[in-house]
Amino acid sequence: MSVSHSSRLNKGVRDQYMKLPQGNQVQVTYIWIDGTGEGLRCKTKTMDHEPKCVEELSEWNFDGSSTGQAEGSNSDMFLIPVKMFRDPFSLDPNKLVMCEVLKYNRKPTETNWRHSCKQVMEMVKDIHPWFGMEQEYTLLGIDGHPYGWPENGFPGPQGPYYCGVGADKVYGRDIVESHYKACLYAGVNIGGTNAEVMPSQWEFQIGPCEGIEMGDHLWVARFILHRVCEDFGVVATLDPKPMTGNWNGAGCHTNCSTDETRRPGGLKAIEAAIEKLSKRHAYHIRVYDPRGGQDNSRRLTGHHETSSITEFSAGVANRGASIRIPRQVGQDGFGYYEDRRPSANCDPYAVTEAIMRTTVLNETGEEPKEYSPSEESRMVRAVVED
Ligand code: ADP
Ligand code: MN
Ligand code: MN
Ligand code: MN
Repeated sequence: MSVSHSSRLNKGVRDQYMKLPQGNQVQVTYIWIDGTGEGLRCKTKTMDHEPKCVEELSEWNFDGSSTGQAEGSNSDMFLIPVKMFRDPFSLDPNKLVMCEVLKYNRKPTETNWRHSCKQVMEMVKDIHPWFGMEQEYTLLGIDGHPYGWPENGFPGPQGPYYCGVGADKVYGRDIVESHYKACLYAGVNIGGTNAEVMPSQWEFQIGPCEGIEMGDHLWVARFILHRVCEDFGVVATLDPKPMTGNWNGAGCHTNCSTDETRRPGGLKAIEAAIEKLSKRHAYHIRVYDPRGGQDNSRRLTGHHETSSITEFSAGVANRGASIRIPRQVGQDGFGYYEDRRPSANCDPYAVTEAIMRTTVLNETGEEPKEYSPSEESRMVRAVVED
């Protein structure tokens, strides 16, 4: 079985140390997104009291030349704490903290999508955008082969695995359940989990979260997933198409609503949003994976419950469309819509920002618009009066 060496270390011995009292000291683990836009890094420091809010945490630094983030000889990067959670691994009073990364000149790094997302979410905050993201992922052994698959060959064809139960139907439930509990303990807004269509592929849902919280919660949920998998000695990949051939890919469906779409009659606002999205398909595809659409092109084939990467489509209960209006929403006449295009390895800050730019700020064209400070405040009023 291809599980890591570390996972086979004696956990009883480890427990003995983990139970030691730590006095008034608190361990705070800073988490950030590295230069790939996909990988997570972390490091831990001791504080002499328990921080009650993220504002009590100090800025910190790391060596950007080791994370693909340094520019020339200026390799010191700033870590800016933005959201604090309880640490489900070392337990209370210890903390996990999501951070933004700034360069030596205090400008956001190339993979810091949170910075502009935060600005956009400020501009649209009065319409209370809610997001829910469905994170699909695949478990791999450390040999890179899907976890639990026969070493030479393939499991039976897709069919019995989605929401399956039984040792011959799902692989790795220990990990899914541990991750779920750990998210609840941490304070991550996890909505549920299910086994996916391809064996050893799973999903968890985060949300509904308002505005910038969507990205903060999903990134920390991903951190917890990788960390839980480390304990079990396997790897969670967010690759959108880990197995070629007749196997489903992995996406990150993004569900969205605003005050307007959630009101009776909100279906009209949903249709208006879809109309705007239909005119900006290429921009969204470019933003929906870390490689400008390249990753997603392996997944969005028009088969395996996906839409085509080149054509926009929408429909009620249509799982082969770019945008799906859930059947219940179609019946009620209000609620939310689902953008099925984002890749499993998308940056949720980039995705939610793009949706707001197009559907609420009415941007068109290939590039995101840059707003001056006065435009930003005017836009907030215009959006509400609309
Ligand atoms: P499915 O697999 O059928 O697409 P899931 O149950 O996996 O649906 O996911 C539904 C997602 O929709 C969840 O992430 C949930 O948080 C989100 N959601 C539910 N209601 C709303 C809403 N009003 N606004 C935004 N997202 C919502
Ligand atoms: Mn789902
Ligand atoms: Mn799914
Ligand atoms: Mn979905």
